[in-house]
Order: sequence, then structure tokens, then C-alpha cells
Amino acid sequence: MSASFAIVGSGPSGMYSADALLKKFPDCTVDVFDKIPMPFGLIRYGVAPDHFKTKNTARQFDRTLSLDNVRYLGNVEIGRDLSVEELKDNYDAVVYAIGAYNDRELGIPGEDLAGVTGACAFVGWYNGHPDYADVEPMLDGGATAVIGIGNVALDVCRVLVKTRAEMRDSDISAHALDIIQDMPIEAVHMFGRRGPVEAGFTPKELGEIRDLERCAVIVDADQIPDEVEGDLEGREKGIKEKNLKTLRELAAQDKPEKPVKMHFQFYASPVEIFGTDRVEGIRLERTEVIDGRAVATGETFDVPCCSVVTAIGYYADPPEGLPLDGATIDNVYGRVRDNIYVVGWAKRGSSGTIPTNGPDSRSVVDLLTQDLHKEGVELGKPGGSAIDKMLAERNVRVVTHDDVGTIRAAETANAVDGHPWEKFIHIDDMIAALD
Ligand SMILES: Cc1cc2nc3c(=O)[nH]c(=O)nc-3n(C[C@H](O)[C@H](O)[C@H](O)COP(=O)(O)OP(=O)(O)OC[C@H]3O[C@@H](n4cnc5c(N)ncnc54)[C@H](O)[C@@H]3O)c2cc1C
Repeated sequence: MSASFAIVGSGPSGMYSADALLKKFPDCTVDVFDKIPMPFGLIRYGVAPDHFKTKNTARQFDRTLSLDNVRYLGNVEIGRDLSVEELKDNYDAVVYAIGAYNDRELGIPGEDLAGVTGACAFVGWYNGHPDYADVEPMLDGGATAVIGIGNVALDVCRVLVKTRAEMRDSDISAHALDIIQDMPIEAVHMFGRRGPVEAGFTPKELGEIRDLERCAVIVDADQIPDEVEGDLEGREKGIKEKNLKTLRELAAQDKPEKPVKMHFQFYASPVEIFGTDRVEGIRLERTEVIDGRAVATGETFDVPCCSVVTAIGYYADPPEGLPLDGATIDNVYGRVRDNIYVVGWAKRGSSGTIPTNGPDSRSVVDLLTQDLHKEGVELGKPGGSAIDKMLAERNVRVVTHDDVGTIRAAETANAVDGHPWEKFIHIDDMIAALD
């Protein structure tokens, strides 16, 4: 009897899981669900628009979705169109690959002021994610504060300061590009509670801000240690050393009179965002790092700004019926309960690159395979045939892999100004391109 599998989420972890299942069970059927019509999660909606080549990873996943025993069911949200129990009852195993892309909060006064935006919403907005089409980042006052010192924070800073010409090869959404380019930007401040050694950004991303057309990077040389101290070794230590070298070079750079400044401020922890109706500034407290932890010194300072973007980590938001444990779905090595598994950011939290999800998904599929091969386990649940009936009765407009090709062709035809495509930012427009 061939096995039937459901994968919820078509981001990297879901797609690596599909590949692994097909290897273990060559005769199986795999249904990949996504709440968004267009597949591949953060490859489409997270990866920075000026890192367009990174998005080519998705080509291998397209090949998987075009196999005869794999189906893509986009525009189907588990928890809204189908329940966790309905999937569990109709597939031999269900793999949740729903990511963890909801912003953690700072937990400080003023966080609810207009002009404070989480990185998910902000990045989603400039990447054309339908959930964030209506975000108003309020960039009209000259300076933006970005909280966080990882690659996402760096992406946000870079996209804010690049010129239209520098964004030409990108797939940034036109509505966001127009707003960013029209705003009177003078400064972007990137704040980190800890120091350069603890920063999460990587050398390649840091190197990209060396030579920006209209923006000078300001780094305080006194904040850059001479060497990487502590327990770090090997590759990790090498990455930190490269970061320190680049930061030292940036600190020493002649600052030509470029109109925009990107300020790196380490050892600064936000304590309050202030303003009457909207953000007018941010108050920070100086810290020192002791045993890897930021310790407050009591000394505060204010920085005027019109908007704040937080990029301090993310949590999963699973549909009803799946237990949350902190920021992830509660699991043991990827097992959740019964025939339910979890992979990717929803399993291990929001860290790691696209390829990191490959070994993670394969390890969970190994466990799943052992479970299904145990004595007494019977395969042969109906899979897609039962689910298709439910979706039809509920009038859900399922977007197939062929439909994805049609939407993509329309997006490519809509491209302007040298961009590879212009994404539809509303689901209705994607469906209209089909119907
Ligand atoms: C802003 C940003 C930039 C990044 N840039 C890079 C980069 O340049 N290079 C790199 O290697 N890595 C990058 N990463 C990391 C990389 O994106 C992640 O490692 C990877 O996307 C995690 O994969 P995932 O499948 O777990 O989650 P996701 O990619 O988030 O996929 C989850 C999918 O599940 C779907 N979903 C969620 N809930 C439901 C539901 N209830 N029903 C149906 N579908 C659902 C979502 O729509 C989504 O498609 C970046 C991450 C971020 C946040």
C-alpha cells in the first residue's frame, strides 16, 4: 500500500521534507499546502530583494512540485480551510513546516506607537507579501532606528539606503520602492544590545555595505575589540574575525560627504520609544557585555527618529490543535504527536539559512520513516481524494502548480525598470490572473 503525506508550508523546510519523503517512499503521494497562493515561503517573501540570485534555490523546489506524485495546494490555510485533525485523519503522516515568522516584541513603553514596525511586516511589505500590503512604515521624518544586529536588520538598513539604481536588479515591490526612494532619508541607526563579536550578521552581508552609492557607514572604532575573545573556535571564530576586520575597515574609512549615514551602535539597549501620536525618538541604555550577556550600566541617551523597525527574533504561530512551546511547536526531535511532525523554523526556532533546513528536514523524515515501519502501523489513508472533496464543498480556490506558473508569467509580464518581475501584492489579483 502506498503512503500519503501532507506537508503544511512550502518554504525550504517543507520542500526539503518533500524531497526526503520521495526518496524514502518512492510510490507515495505528497500534497504540499500553503496559505499563500505562491510557494516557497521566505525565499519569496523574506530573502532581501537585492539578493535575487539567492531566490534561484527555489528552482529545485519547482522541479519537485512538478513531479507526478506531488501536488501543490496553494491558498489553503490549515486552521482556516482545513483543520489539524482533518489532515491527521486523512494522511498517513503530516509534516508541519509553517516557519516561525512572527515578530517578538521588545516589551518597552511606546512599542505600540505608529511608526514601530516588526521586521516580518517591514520585510514582507517591501517583498510584496499579501499579509503586509497595507503596512505604513512612516519613513517621512529623516531617520529610522533598526533594532537588532543580525542579517535581517542589515537587510533592512541596506534596502532603506540603496538608491533606485542600486535596486534595479532586485525584485522589490514597486509600491515600497517608491515610498523608500521618495522619503527624505538622512540616517539609519542600527542598535545592538551586545557587541560586534555577539552580532549575528555574516561577513558577506557586512561586506555589502562598504561601498554604497549615497550612504556612508559610521562605526565607532572604540567599540570594535582587537580580537575575538572567549570560547569560540573554528569556523564560528573565523566568521567573527572577518566581521571585526570589516568593521575596523569601515571605522577607518574616509567618510566622503554622502548624504545618508548608516550608524552602527553596539552596546545600546532600547528602553523606551517616545512620541505623542507617533514615533519621535528612541531612548537607549548603554550596556557592557559580561560572560556574553548584556548588562545595563544606567547611562541612557536619546536618538530622534520617525520610525523604528525591530528585528530581534521570531516565533511560530501554529493552527489550533498544535502545542506551542515558547517560540516553536512543542516537539521531540521533530515528533509532535500521533502521525504529526514538525520541521524547519517551526521546529528549531528562527535561525539558520535556507540550506540549514536540508539536514534538519531529512533527520525528521528518518524518524517518521522508522515510525511508519514499526510493526502494526497500517498505511493507506485516503490522502488527497478526501481532502479535495472538503475543499470543493468549502469553496476554496486551490492554486495548483500550473496556476503558479500562470501567476509568475503575469508577474514577469508586469515587470518594469529592469526588475525581473512585479509581484502581485493582493491575493485577489493573483486569483484574477487565473480566472
Ligand atoms: C528576512 C529574512 C531574510 C532571509 N534571508 C536569507 C538569505 O538571504 N539566505 C538564506 O539562506 N536564508 C535566509 N533567511 C533564512 C531562511 O529564509 C529560513 O532558513 C527558511 O525560510 C526557513 O524555512 P521554513 O520552511 O522553516 O519557513 P518559511 O520559509 O517561513 O516557510 C513557511 C511556509 O509555511 C506557510 N504557512 C504558515 N502557516 C501556514 C498554515 N497555517 N497553513 C498553510 N501554510 C502555512 C507560509 O506561508 C510559508 O510559505 C532569511 C530569513 C528572513 C526572516
